[in-house]
Amino acid sequence: MTAREYFANIYDNVKSIAIGMKITIKYCFQKTVTVQYPEQRLSFAPRYRGIHEFELDRCIACDLCAKACPVDCIYIDKTAPRKIDKKTGKVDPKGGELVRYAIDYSKCLFCALCTEPCPTECIHMGKLHDLSSYSREDVVVEFTELDKKGQRTPIPLWMERNADHIPWVKEEYERVKSGKIATTAGDIPVVK
Ligand code: SF4
Ligand code: SF4
Repeated sequence: MTAREYFANIYDNVKSIAIGMKITIKYCFQKTVTVQYPEQRLSFAPRYRGIHEFELDRCIACDLCAKACPVDCIYIDKTAPRKIDKKTGKVDPKGGELVRYAIDYSKCLFCALCTEPCPTECIHMGKLHDLSSYSREDVVVEFTELDKKGQRTPIPLWMERNADHIPWVKEEYERVKSGKIATTAGDIPVVK
């Protein structure tokens, strides 16, 4: 290698580092777009579609939601047909039993096509977006089992771990635990 080539090499390297640094420095002074989640609360569009909220006491196990699902990720088992008692607005206890209502979130597209044909409007798109877990089995949500604990939607791992020290997470945790539905636009958290 000649002396000329040697110094040309050094020049090229310094030039490419300078170009890279220029881009890095430019981003240093731009507005931050990431948030320290979950310490900072995320905002959602009013029609955001998150993990479902399911009202088992109004589900007649008609399978319409499962048939509408484009990826077949809703699993329903029942002993016999169910119908709504007009007086109470809930499922008639003399009818069949809904043995299983589960959704596999490793497949779900959050398209909301399952909510549209539901004759009793008992399946809703919720606002929780994160169901991270350590196994694939954990992302299959057994809604009939949740109902036994009075819940309409699962409590994600991150929520359980942060509820005792982040106020807004505690609020959400208590809402989910108490079985309160939060699917109206007014319940969607605003930008903070
Ligand atoms: S949101 Fe879409 S993909 Fe998910 S369960 Fe409903 S229909 Fe299926
Ligand atoms: S469409 Fe509604 S009532 Fe029918 S099985 Fe699905 S959730 Fe239940």
